[in-house]
Parts: sequence; C-alpha cells; structure tokens
Amino acid sequence: MAVSPLISQSPSSASVSTSTASKAKSLAVRSESQSATASHLNNATAALELAEQMNENVRRKYVKDNKLGEGTYAVVYLGHLRDTPSSLVAIKKIKVNAEYRDGLSMDAIREIKYLQELSHPNIIALHDVFSSKDQNLNLVLEYLPLGDLEMLIKDGNIQYGVADVKAWMGMLARGVWFCHENFVLHRDIKPNNLLIASDGEVKLADFGLARSFADPYMNMTHQVITRWYRPPELLYGARQYSAVVDVWSMGMVFAELLLRVPFVAGNTDMDQIAKISEAFGTPTEENWPGVTRLPNYVPPGDRITPLQGREFFLRQFPTAGPLGADLLMSMTTLDPCKRSSVRQILQHAWWMSEPKPTFKESLPRKSGGSKKMGNDLSRRAGEDSEGRFKNAARQLDFGVK
Ligand code: AMP
Repeated sequence: MAVSPLISQSPSSASVSTSTASKAKSLAVRSESQSATASHLNNATAALELAEQMNENVRRKYVKDNKLGEGTYAVVYLGHLRDTPSSLVAIKKIKVNAEYRDGLSMDAIREIKYLQELSHPNIIALHDVFSSKDQNLNLVLEYLPLGDLEMLIKDGNIQYGVADVKAWMGMLARGVWFCHENFVLHRDIKPNNLLIASDGEVKLADFGLARSFADPYMNMTHQVITRWYRPPELLYGARQYSAVVDVWSMGMVFAELLLRVPFVAGNTDMDQIAKISEAFGTPTEENWPGVTRLPNYVPPGDRITPLQGREFFLRQFPTAGPLGADLLMSMTTLDPCKRSSVRQILQHAWWMSEPKPTFKESLPRKSGGSKKMGNDLSRRAGEDSEGRFKNAARQLDFGVK
C-alpha cells in the first residue's frame, strides 16, 4: 500500500491534522529505526493505516468542479468544500511524469514545501494536500477568481493609472518581502504569477521554482526566472546569488505595468543580455566589479552603451514621476551588490508621495467591472506578446538546485 502525502494548513483543520500527522510520522519513524520486532511492525502498519485514513478524510472534504486552467506541471480545477458549497477553492492536480522516479516533479515538492511555510495576505494560501485514488497529488489552494496581472496589462478595455500601479506594486513588494524575511527566493516573479483575489488583493503564486537561501555560499542553478524577468547576473551564469534576483523581476513587472508591454523582451538569453545592455547600459568592470569573471560573461564588442542615469528613467517612464523613476532605477541596477533589497524598496519615498495607492476594492478588474477613466497608461501599439510568457525557465535543465 502506498503512503499518501499528508499536509493540512487550512485554518479550520490545521491544528488537528498537523498534530495527528506528526503522531503518525513519529510512529513510522520509530518503527523504522528499531529492530523489526512484531510489535514495531504492528506500529508501522497502524501508522500507514492512520495516514491513509487521514488522507481519505482530507480528500472527502472537497468536491472537484470544472477545469480552470493548465500549467506545465499541473491542471487546475475549481472546487468547493463538500459541507459548505459556497466556499470555493482551487485544486491543483499535479501531472504524474514518468521522468521522475517517484512520479513527483521537483516543482510540486517545492510548491508544497514553501507554501506550507509562508502565510501572508500577498502569498497564495495552501489549505490542504491530498492524493487522489490514482495516486495523483492534489494541492488545495485559495481560489483567486480575478485572473492575474498579465491579463490586466494586456486587456485593452481596461484603463488604469499610476495610483493603481502603486497599489499592485505595493502588494507585490509586501509578498516578496515576506518571502525574503523567511529566506525564500521565489525565482519566477512575472505578471502571470501574480493572481488577484475577489477583493482585489494581489497574491504571489506558483512557487515551483522557489528555494531557500540561508547559506550564501551555496551553489544554485542560474537557469531560473522566465527570461524577460531574469536579472543579468543569472544570464551571465552566476551560481551564487542573493534575494535581489527577485527584485530585478519586480522592476521588470513595474516597468511593464507602466508601459503595458514587456520592457526587455529577448528572444534568446544572449539577446536578453543585449537588450538589457541597450536599455540600462553595458555591464563593465567599472559599473559592476567582477562581472567579467562570471561563467557565461561575453565581452560586448565595440558597442558600449553608457550606464543610464535618472534622466533616462524619467524620460522612459514619465508617468512614474521622479520618485517612481528613482525607485525603478534602484530595482534595475545592473550590479546586484548595488541593487536595492526589497526592505529598502518598501522604505522608498514613492509610496508616500501623491497619488496615494488605490484602495484594493477600487482597483480595475477583469470583465464586468466599471472601466476607470483618466490618468490612463495606454498600451504601446504593435507589440502583441501572445503566447510568449510560457514558463521559459521550466524548459531548462535543473541539474544544480
Ligand atoms: P499554474 O499551473 O499555477 O500556472 O495554473 C494554471 C492556470 O490555472 C492559471 O493560469 C490560472 O488561470 C489558473 N489558476 C491557478 N491557480 C489558481 C487559483 N488559485 N485560483 C484561480 N485560478 C487559478
């Protein structure tokens, strides 16, 4: 009999299920570590039966409804609590992949591990985990019905202004701050992973590429973060990096919210570096000491763009105002050692300046909501990006974690 995974975090069930689960686990551990006497074998069997029963209890709590969407490693369904059908959830069913010996992808393991640890209004909540009869793993997540920031950016019928951008960026910054305070890197921040709750709250989702960064000298893979949101140190192959990789991605989301089109959208990793250099300045030993020693560093040739200053950011992003332009510049500093931390970002004067961030309930929303007028950031014409946000980082090799 296979052992079913058991994780329960829903506010209603967490305390009961967790204590019973740890009892079950300690039973199982004890019976493994001691000699195989009959009584211990009985304990192990009892633990497995208990685990199966608990999984069954969790599974029976939910009813799966229609399909909401599909990602690289999971299909997402709408669901509801059997006892209270008005309580909606999203059930993410992990696709079993023959490539993985145990049938579970690393993405699923990472997502469960980190969502279990992180509880914050701007991070999607994981309520439960259960395995279905076919041994597929199901993550029961908070249901976020208002789509994601990518949808809003691309929807030409939705008008929004800088006060709305300030509200969305504030929610993103608080979610990322909480991750970093808990030593978790998200490593795939992009508009498509910022889901919106019914009250307008933005929630950081999809922790399939997340990892902890408590040890600064640990080698990590550089093949993370969807290319357009990936910082230059990862494009140059850095194996030791810090939380500011997520800050660069936040800067790219900020720029995209202001322009309504991705700011640096390379077709290949080399093209991405070329576009970053063109936009922000060519990385050199002067503006980024040590850059030339990074594993995938390529000399730029004759075309050197000088490092851009405040005037460039103000010219490119006039709607952000001088303080907003200054904040964006601090997020997109080439040298990671000089880039702001998310804590510094939250202390920036932009948040306190006029206009104040829109209240979350009044933010523009997909379909049905009223269109906001005035102070609109209009879409740049002719740059349709349909289909280009497809989990680029996931298609790469994850040999080094
Ligand atoms: P993912 O595999 O996380 O990229 O999810 C695939 C799609 O399912 C997303 O693009 C959303 O449309 C939808 N989805 C994922 N999670 C949720 C959720 N918590 N609430 C509502 N829809 C979701």
